[in-house]
Amino acid sequence: MSPSERDAQTPDPDPSAAAPGSDGAAPSDVPVADDGAPGAEGMGAPAERSPEGSEADGATAPPRGAARADDGDADRRAAEPPLPVRSAVTDVASTRVVVLGGGPGGYEAALVAAQLGASVTVVERDGLGGSTVLTDVVPSKTLIATAEVMATVTESVELGLRFPGAGRGETDAESAVTVDLDRVNTRVRGLAKAQSEDIRERLEREGVDVLVGRGTVLAPDRVRVELADGGTRDLRADVLLLATGSHPRELPDSMPDGERILTWKQLYDLTELPERLVVVGSGVTGAEFANAYEALGSDVVLVSSRDRVLPGEDADAAQVIDDVFRRRGMTVMARSRAQSVVRDGDGVLVTLADGREVRGSHCLMAVGSIPNTAGLGLEEAGIRTSESGHVVVDRVSRTSIRGVYAAGDCTGVLPLASVAAMQGRIAMWHALGDAVSPLKLRTVAANVFTAPEIATVGWTQAQIESGEAQGQVVKLPLAGNARAKMQGIHDGFVKLFCRTGSGTVIGGVVVSPRASELVFPLTLAVEHRLTVDQVAHAFSVYPSLSGSLAEAARRLHTAPEVD
Ligand SMILES: Cc1cc2nc3c(=O)[nH]c(=O)nc-3n(C[C@H](O)[C@H](O)[C@H](O)COP(=O)(O)OP(=O)(O)OC[C@H]3O[C@@H](n4cnc5c(N)ncnc54)[C@H](O)[C@@H]3O)c2cc1C
Repeated sequence: MSPSERDAQTPDPDPSAAAPGSDGAAPSDVPVADDGAPGAEGMGAPAERSPEGSEADGATAPPRGAARADDGDADRRAAEPPLPVRSAVTDVASTRVVVLGGGPGGYEAALVAAQLGASVTVVERDGLGGSTVLTDVVPSKTLIATAEVMATVTESVELGLRFPGAGRGETDAESAVTVDLDRVNTRVRGLAKAQSEDIRERLEREGVDVLVGRGTVLAPDRVRVELADGGTRDLRADVLLLATGSHPRELPDSMPDGERILTWKQLYDLTELPERLVVVGSGVTGAEFANAYEALGSDVVLVSSRDRVLPGEDADAAQVIDDVFRRRGMTVMARSRAQSVVRDGDGVLVTLADGREVRGSHCLMAVGSIPNTAGLGLEEAGIRTSESGHVVVDRVSRTSIRGVYAAGDCTGVLPLASVAAMQGRIAMWHALGDAVSPLKLRTVAANVFTAPEIATVGWTQAQIESGEAQGQVVKLPLAGNARAKMQGIHDGFVKLFCRTGSGTVIGGVVVSPRASELVFPLTLAVEHRLTVDQVAHAFSVYPSLSGSLAEAARRLHTAPEVD
């Protein structure tokens, strides 16, 4: 019997307790992340960026692979079939680690492997930092930074600012400030390139070999690299990590042309602000770009196949964004499925499933992502993928083949850069015999970078209402917060969820400017199982938006029973 067969038949119930390398066998029953089947937004079935994994999961679905046992509930996935495993390496210094893909899933893993003393090669075809740095997170958040300033300026009349017009009296705030998109995008591309370079330098400083080229898996322990500057190179791998990311989903009747019909990766070549931008898809990506371009001055039409924008988010939070979008003049078309998008002279024509037509100068297709796993040689190497093409992994990033791990968007576990990086690190800690705990999705903090932002962590209200989690909910609108009043903040709220009885904080939602910064106390509370009383007894600054978090915790206090 091979080690993998033996382990598969004698599951170890606690993967974090096993010390890979100590007995030469990795634990075998780490629950497998589900198959990452993509959801349905816009025109079909994408994997959308959302803490819920995909929009089709709806607001009631738990994050994929969420660590249910954290809350004392039975881990339903423990019943899933165990994966074959490999023996962990025993001599790190002579271990060759090959990483396919230089995004956060790949480069963070490479840094860990180098730190532990392995010999590491990263193969990257486009640029270090991956889509995260070059086309997705860094560019979008840099663009959004400019949009935020625009929005702050144009909404500042209430705070007493005036905008003297050129020559004749005052002008309205919107006309007082305009954007030079060419300069914005030059800055965006420059920042992305510089960050990619920083990552390359860091990897090389840590002794990681970087090969520029496209890798394919010849066998679980062999990779072929078609080098960008010609020729091929074959690499032996004792440990192989797949971190190849994903790419925008394209639909046959709505093919991007890079000029007027665009994926989110093509937006940064625009030199002029789209006059009228039609955004197809109202998940996180669609909502963030719709918000940003509206703030920059485009006329925006958001085409959503669902009842409201951000269907995977907290319902109250999504409603705030829906209302704000409409109030600012955006056209939000709910229950409108785009059927085709074609060029129409200098513009675009979007035809909806019910026959209605929407015209614009440009169209952004934000209908989900497809994992970069086709043609990688996975099937030939016996590495299991789901129907959607995602690599099936467990919570320590193992695939179905010994010695082969996977991290990030190619696994479909939770499409966030932070999760990709953690999966990559966990893979290396596990493979190289360091202390490791399985991935815990329940404590992942996620943010939607709209204005206001939506930050979430832990269980959702929908899960509490459906009885999946036993909890109490308190919601405080920011309109009652002193600092919010001073700053002219009218939209948003904080919500806190605690376990009934114990008062342990199990989740929360913050809808406000910079919610991404405000959610951290909640993340700490969820991670360390603080009670609402512990949160309530900590000082918050007066006046501050975070004061509403402390107030929410106070409202959830249960007075002791008096006999
Ligand atoms: C518009 C947008 C905004 C986002 N904003 C955020 C955000 O604010 N916060 C957040 O946490 N997440 C955000 N995300 C999600 C985040 O971008 C992804 O979860 C993250 O990029 C996944 O990292 P990764 O390492 O798996 O893949 P990537 O960063 O995509 O890296 C994979 C790399 O592998 C390379 N590659 C692929 N195949 C091969 C091959 N055969 N050989 C060699 N190299 C190969 C690719 O060139 C790529 O560089 C956003 C996504 C989008 C689309």
